[in-house]
Amino acid sequence: MAERHRAARGCRAACPAPRALRSPVDDGLHEECGVFGIWAPGADVARLTYFGLHALQHRGQESAGIAVGDGSTVLIRKDLGLVNQVFSEADLAALQGKVALGHVRYCTSGQKNWEGAQPHLAAIDDVIIALAHNGTLVNTDQLRVELERRSIEFRSATDTEVAAKLIGYYTQKTHRIRDGIAKTMRLIRGAYAMAVIRENALYAFRDPNGIRPLLLGELPDGRGWVVASETCALSIVGARYVRDIAPGEVLRISDDGLKTMRGIEPSVPAQCIFEQVYFSRPDSIVDGRSVYSTRFAMGAQLAHEVPASADIVVGVPDSGLPGAEGFASASRLPVKTGFIKDRYVARTFIQPSQELRELGVRLKLNALSDVVRGQRVVLVDDSIVRGTTMNQIVRLVREAGATEVHVRINSPEVTWPCFYGIDTATQDQLISANMSVEGIREFIGADSLGFLSVAGLLRAAPRAMGYCAACFTGEYPVPIPESFSEGSFLAGYEPKRLSRAGAALQMRIEDLAREAALEAAEPKA
Ligand code: SF4
Repeated sequence: MAERHRAARGCRAACPAPRALRSPVDDGLHEECGVFGIWAPGADVARLTYFGLHALQHRGQESAGIAVGDGSTVLIRKDLGLVNQVFSEADLAALQGKVALGHVRYCTSGQKNWEGAQPHLAAIDDVIIALAHNGTLVNTDQLRVELERRSIEFRSATDTEVAAKLIGYYTQKTHRIRDGIAKTMRLIRGAYAMAVIRENALYAFRDPNGIRPLLLGELPDGRGWVVASETCALSIVGARYVRDIAPGEVLRISDDGLKTMRGIEPSVPAQCIFEQVYFSRPDSIVDGRSVYSTRFAMGAQLAHEVPASADIVVGVPDSGLPGAEGFASASRLPVKTGFIKDRYVARTFIQPSQELRELGVRLKLNALSDVVRGQRVVLVDDSIVRGTTMNQIVRLVREAGATEVHVRINSPEVTWPCFYGIDTATQDQLISANMSVEGIREFIGADSLGFLSVAGLLRAAPRAMGYCAACFTGEYPVPIPESFSEGSFLAGYEPKRLSRAGAALQMRIEDLAREAALEAAEPKA
């Protein structure tokens, strides 16, 4: 059952939903989160949020949560597990209100427990807010210490809770949540697409570089508004895409309508290009074009850059498939279904021993020998990160009878860790930071290996926005404090712009508290 916030502060029984462990079969990048918010009086907002989270499930499988504003307080239900494991019919029936906020999480900050699941709650005098976050903040250690010095207690180790408590702290100064949000945006650094609800309003805001996506949609006949990480979550509830929430913008949706304000000056646009490579669902629209079409264009570009003499093209399901089609089209080769993927493998039961890791790949993928036997195969996948499964996939194709296996990767080499909400591991675990292309080819047992270039990737992606491509280039759009990145880089492997984490990060909370107090004393227009 859903619970009232005040009850939730005490002891809460653990949910029997099975904990979704990260599968060792999957050695790729992991998105941190998906966010879905809705303001729709008269609608079943919890159920619509449930559907929205279903559409965003690929962005995080470790926990799910829904908070609802019922006009007087905020109700919440969250737990470890997949969306359909966390919420029962009774939960959704109990979550009644006109505004709701949902979240699915893949943990890159804080612990994997109930407290770490989102939305996070914070109390501002008598007002309860719930906050959901996609991204990672790079400077919350210092801010947490400052808040703790003011006797503010934390229930989790997450950066999101720091943001929730900061919003609460500053809102108490002016009694306007939008001011609390704007002040918080000026203090926090990193990548954030966040949404907040209180009992009767929805807020959404995005970091000044727009690293993580957040979109605005409208329900038919003016029935309400939706914010979501991807358009696939708008489509599933029948909402029309209106626009992206601008970097640095704060939206407020309530009985007073939709209002927009600037929370912080926008900076150089730097949306994560890995949304195009891997994270976003292929049917989501980014910058006016489906992610499927962009991956297809990347595959065609890949074929021009690193062609292969072969008979057929096979994509590794699922995110390698559009690239394989693009590669085949540009190469005038047939594209074939070379694998059957088992979608029902219980990830929880795959244990991290080498023997079972190998078994895990076989549990998940089976090569179609009727298709690949006697063929020279181009095998297309979206990316290689740690490289621990590609050699097993190549082996599967060879065992199924392929005479040659030419691996083509529909993105550049991942050589730098991500600090903006994506789990890329440390640099010593990134195979491309540690081996030459020839070394990787040998390691995975392919006859040839080729990657898309950074220029080719940017050529194939829609051009209206600026991108972060730091995991390929080492050019980080938001400076990273050394304390945050310590131990993440190989010795002597200096990324660009790391050292620019300067005075702004040293800003203490008192500075802004003083500023907020001064502003509060000014008469309001
Ligand atoms: S470093 Fe890579 S994964 Fe991280 S935000 Fe930038 S492009 Fe995305």
